[in-house]
Amino acid sequence: MEPLSDGPHELERHLEGQMRAQERQLAWVRLGLAALAAAVLLLAVPEMAGIPILIVVVAIAAAWSLLVPWLLARFPAREVGIISTVVDMAAVTVAVYVAADAVDIYLFYGLVILGTALRFGLGASVWSSIVMSALYVAVVLIEGPLDSAALDLLPVRVGYLIGFGIVAGLFSRVMIGRATENARLQQRLMEDEREREQIRERELLSRLGRDFSASLDREATLRTIVDGAGPLLGGASMVFTFDDAERCLEPAAAAGPDGELAENWLAYATGHPPRLGEGLVGGVGATAVSRQASAVEIETGDPDGMRALELEWLIAVPIFAGGGFLGVLATAARGDRPPEDRILRLAEAVADRAGPALQNAQLWSDLQERMAREQTAQRIKDDFLSIVSHELRTPLTSIQGYSQLLEARLRTERSGESKEMAHLRVIRSQAGRMRRLVDDLLDVSRIDRRGGVSVEPADFDLAEAVREAVNRAAREHADRQIAVVAPESLPLHADRDRLDQVLTNLLENAVKYSPDGGPIVVTAERRGGEVEVRVADTGVGIPAEHRENVFERFYQADNDAGRQRFGGLGLGLYISRAIIDAHGGRIWAADNTEAGAGSVFGFRIPRVAIALAPEVASTGEPPPFVLRRRDG
Ligand code: ADP
Repeated sequence: MEPLSDGPHELERHLEGQMRAQERQLAWVRLGLAALAAAVLLLAVPEMAGIPILIVVVAIAAAWSLLVPWLLARFPAREVGIISTVVDMAAVTVAVYVAADAVDIYLFYGLVILGTALRFGLGASVWSSIVMSALYVAVVLIEGPLDSAALDLLPVRVGYLIGFGIVAGLFSRVMIGRATENARLQQRLMEDEREREQIRERELLSRLGRDFSASLDREATLRTIVDGAGPLLGGASMVFTFDDAERCLEPAAAAGPDGELAENWLAYATGHPPRLGEGLVGGVGATAVSRQASAVEIETGDPDGMRALELEWLIAVPIFAGGGFLGVLATAARGDRPPEDRILRLAEAVADRAGPALQNAQLWSDLQERMAREQTAQRIKDDFLSIVSHELRTPLTSIQGYSQLLEARLRTERSGESKEMAHLRVIRSQAGRMRRLVDDLLDVSRIDRRGGVSVEPADFDLAEAVREAVNRAAREHADRQIAVVAPESLPLHADRDRLDQVLTNLLENAVKYSPDGGPIVVTAERRGGEVEVRVADTGVGIPAEHRENVFERFYQADNDAGRQRFGGLGLGLYISRAIIDAHGGRIWAADNTEAGAGSVFGFRIPRVAIALAPEVASTGEPPPFVLRRRDG
C-alpha cells in the first residue's frame, strides 16, 4: 500500500505551482508595461534624448518576459523570480539614468518593489526598497550637480520608495499568508479525501476476501470474484483460468458496471481464448507480471479484441496461490478516459484475494471428482464381490448337502469307519470352510455398502449360546481341549446369530493359531450393566505392535510364510468388530498373561444392547480397500 501522503513535499509542490503561476502573471504584466512604454516613447516623446537606449531597455524587458515560461519549465520559480527582479531593477536604473528629465520615471521602482514583495514577502520588499533608493540616489548624484529643489525632493522620494516597500511587503504578507493557508487547507482536504478513499477500498477488499471464500463451488467463486471486482475496477472485469494442457487462458466469468461490454467481451474471449504469450492477457500468462495497454498501443492482430470491442484500455494482472499460477484477472473500459492510477493497484489487490479462494475451490472440485471416481470403483468392486459370493454359495451348499447325504448312506451301508467316509468328511469340512470364507466376503461387502452391520436384538441366554458354540467347535476339533467358564444363565438382549458368528470366529482363530494344541478357555461373565466374553489360547500370540491392526480388513499379523501356514483372508476380526460395534460394545486383543503364552480376545456389550444403525457414508471418503501385510 502506498503511504497516505508525503505531506510537506506535497505542500512544497503546491506552493511551487502557485509561484510559477504568479511568475507567469508578472511576466505578462512586464510585457504589457514594456509595450506601453515603447508606444509612449515612440509616439509621445520621439525627440527625447536617449530614446534608442530606452527602446533597447524596453526590448530587453519584453524579451525577458517572453523567456520566462521557458525558464520556468527548467528552473525553480524562486530563482527565475530573483533574476527577474534584478533585470527589472537594472532596467529601471538605466531608464532613470538615461531619461534624467523624466523625473517621475523613478516611480517604476515601485513596480519592482511590488514584484519583490509579492514574490519574497515583507523582508525582501523592505530590503529591495532600500537597495533601490540607494541606486536611485547614486544615479541622481552621478548625473551632476543638483539644484536645491531637486535636493529637497531626494529624501522625499527615498522616503516614498522605502514607505512603498513596507506597504507592499505588508500587503504581500497578508496575500501570501492567505494563499499558504488556502494551500494547506486544500492539501488537508485532499489528504482526508484520499484517506477516506483508502479506508473504503480496504473495507471493500477485506469484504471481498471474505466473500470470495464463502463458497467452495468453483463456478460460484468465479462469479463472486468478478461481481466483487466490478465496482472497484473498469467497466468490465473478467477472470481467465489457466489451462495447462492447452497452454491457454480460458475465460471463466465476466461482470462489471458496463454489462454489455462484459457480455461481449466474454463472448469474444470464448471464441478467441488467449494463448500463452499472445497479446496482453496471454503476455501476463507467460510472464506473470501485471501489464496495461491503451487503445493506441494495440498490437498487430488484436489478440485481446481491444479494437473489436472498442476498448479504451485494458489491464491484466496474474492470479497466484501457493506459488502456483492460476490465471489472469483482466479489467477494461470503453470511452475516452485513461484508467485511473489506482485501478492497477486495486486489480492486483483483488487478484491477491481471489487466488486462495480459487485454489480452494479447485482443490475441492478435484477432491469431489476423485471421490466420485473412487466411490464408483468401490461400488463396482462391492457389486462384483456380492455377485461372486452369491454365485459361489449355491454350488457350495450343494457340495455340502450331497457329501452329507453320501456320508449318511455310507454309514448305513458299511458299518464302521471307511476310507471313503474319511474323504467325504474332508470334502464337507473344506466346503464348510469355503462357505465361511464366502460368507465373510459377503459380510464385508455389506459392511462397506452400508457402513456397518445391521443387527436384530432379541432376548436369549448368552451362557447357553457360548456353550453351544464351544460344543460345536469341540466336535469339529475333537483333538482340542476347550473349556467353558460361565454362570448357569446370562440373559442378554442382542443379536444371537451375529454374536454366535463372533464366538465361532474367535474359537476358530484360537484353534488355528495354537497349532501345537494347548487348552482353550472361554469365559463369559456379567460386568455391571455389561457382559464380557473372553477366548484365551496358548498359541503363537500377537506381537504388541499388531494388536490394534488385527481388526482391520484383510490384515494378517503374520508374514507371507505365516499366511501360507494358517490360511485365511484376514476378515474374521474385521467383521467381528463391526458386529460388536453395532451392539454398542468393544472388542480387544491382549496377551494371555495368565497362561504365559498365547493371546486373549475379548468383547463387552451392554446387557440390553441398543442396535446402532450403520452410518452409511454418503459423501465421505470410502473405506480403504487394501491388503496390508507385515513382512517382519
Ligand atoms: P484370518 O484368521 O482369516 O487371517 P482374522 O481377521 O480372524 O483373519 O485374524 C486376523 C489376524 O489376527 C490373523 O491373521 C492372525 O495373524 C491374528 N490372529 C487372530 N486371532 C489370533 C489368535 N488367537 N492368536 C494369534 N493371532 C491371531
